[in-house]
Amino acid sequence: MDHDDRPLAGKTAIVTGGGRGIGREHALLLGRQGAAVLVNDRGGAPDGTGSDATPAQQVADEIVAAGGAAIANAADVTSFQESGEMVQAAIDTFGGIDIVITNAGILRDRTLVSMTEDEWDSVISVHLKGTYAPAHHAANHWRARSKQGLSNDARLITTSSPSGIYGNVGQTNYGAAKAGIAAFTVIAAMELERYGVTVNCIAPGAITRLTEPLMAAHSAITDEQREAMGPHWIASVAAWLCGPEAARVTGRVFDVRGRTVAVAEGWRRGPIGTQPDDPTHLGAVMMDLVARARRNASMDGDESPA
Ligand code: NAP
Repeated sequence: MDHDDRPLAGKTAIVTGGGRGIGREHALLLGRQGAAVLVNDRGGAPDGTGSDATPAQQVADEIVAAGGAAIANAADVTSFQESGEMVQAAIDTFGGIDIVITNAGILRDRTLVSMTEDEWDSVISVHLKGTYAPAHHAANHWRARSKQGLSNDARLITTSSPSGIYGNVGQTNYGAAKAGIAAFTVIAAMELERYGVTVNCIAPGAITRLTEPLMAAHSAITDEQREAMGPHWIASVAAWLCGPEAARVTGRVFDVRGRTVAVAEGWRRGPIGTQPDDPTHLGAVMMDLVARARRNASMDGDESPA
């Protein structure tokens, strides 16, 4: 057989939420680049209700039809047990696991005063636990291999959002989960480096089932906009992060919107002051700090105008 020089030849990947939108593009591109892909998708509505297995199966079929290897998987990533079974299914089917992209997501937008407990819990669960659970099981596999003296060249890629790293009205649940995922990424990168695993995060902007209703509410989406903000632009960065050139890139959050790709720089300490002995005199110090500190970023990632 001819040597396969595609960047991900011989790799095995899991893409959660791989049946639609950005996850679908991740799965298809990884497949085209040579990876065997477990395409996970619970098969539900954008708010997380319902379930059917067809979107993941369709993506898996498409990869296989193009000459690749893929299986569909309907695990609910909010389930610790189902996530473990999903990781095991990839190992049993393909003989290992090298790449995990945690992408599954739902929206339940509501202002804080109106947000129900269920809207809070479901969004936190799908994004945060749905990142932790697959990552935990894959990390244990990589750790076990490392303890056996085997080397890993593995990748964990998580999914944040401009809403999480910059902030967006109506999304305290979603933004808190997505900010948590960015923090998770930085910490997991520190913990997993010793096992040969890089951990990076993408904060995407793309036209998909999740965002189309919001965009179309203002004006009809043109074909040019669909191409310029297509989810395939997110997948190309994810695939690069999975490849050999990215072996030393870890702990980063990338802001990706169409062709525009940037590093989202993390929280850092700004201006410093000293507290006076008398707490009633603290105001002058605090007001000076606030005046000297950079403003928070707007949703496009730039410093908000004063
Ligand atoms: P999408 O088209 O709705 O895709 C989300 C996928 O996640 C669906 O395939 C969905 O499957 C799956 N999913 C939901 N809950 C799941 C669960 N419990 N277990 C397994 N799979 C589950 O949305 P998208 O725009 O591609 O979003 C992908 C990721 O990017 C999300 O994490 C989202 O928050 C993030 N993001 C997107 C944008 C954007 O501009 N599109 C911006 C910022 C962040 P079913 O519904 O079929 O079950």
